[in-house]
Amino acid sequence: MRSWSWGVGHATSPSSTFTIQSDMTELRIGDQLIRYDREATDAAYAQVEQGGAGRCSCSGCRNFVLLRDKIYPDAFRELLDKLGIDAMKEAEAVHDGPVKDNLHHYGGWFYFVGEILEKGEHLRNMTSSAGFDVLLLPGSESISDFQYWCSWIFPRPPASFGSKVAALEFATQLPWVLEDPYDPMVREKN
Ligand SMILES: [Zn+2]
Repeated sequence: MRSWSWGVGHATSPSSTFTIQSDMTELRIGDQLIRYDREATDAAYAQVEQGGAGRCSCSGCRNFVLLRDKIYPDAFRELLDKLGIDAMKEAEAVHDGPVKDNLHHYGGWFYFVGEILEKGEHLRNMTSSAGFDVLLLPGSESISDFQYWCSWIFPRPPASFGSKVAALEFATQLPWVLEDPYDPMVREKN
């Protein structure tokens, strides 16, 4: 079981007129506005050896690794590419548990060099029948949709991303394709 809590204590620093944002491009994602540096992100990913799920031996991560080259919708892949994110190098994949049938709820995120200018209002918490909180995008009726949004709360990213980092998060449901059957009694650490 895992629940997300989203802090609201993020302080917005007064915009500095002394900073030169040379390579930053603005992009609107839903009701969020971000600024990103594709080249810096691309360079940062070159320093990352592999995705977070590949570094973990738990069954949830091993299942994710088997699927990650085919789970992202085209629009999300295009967004990853636009931001300079390597789709195979997620910062972390989080296996929340089974939802129904053979489907399991997953979350995860990617780092990118940039910042969030407008946080938007789209995040709302919903507790599913499985007992964990999921975040729905506006217009999203079901947790089986693939969802993504930008966030500003995350563990410290690799140093190659520098100091201006944001995260692109996703949530989805994935089948269990691992040869080992899912065992809810095995509590593994992500
Ligand atoms: Zn894991």
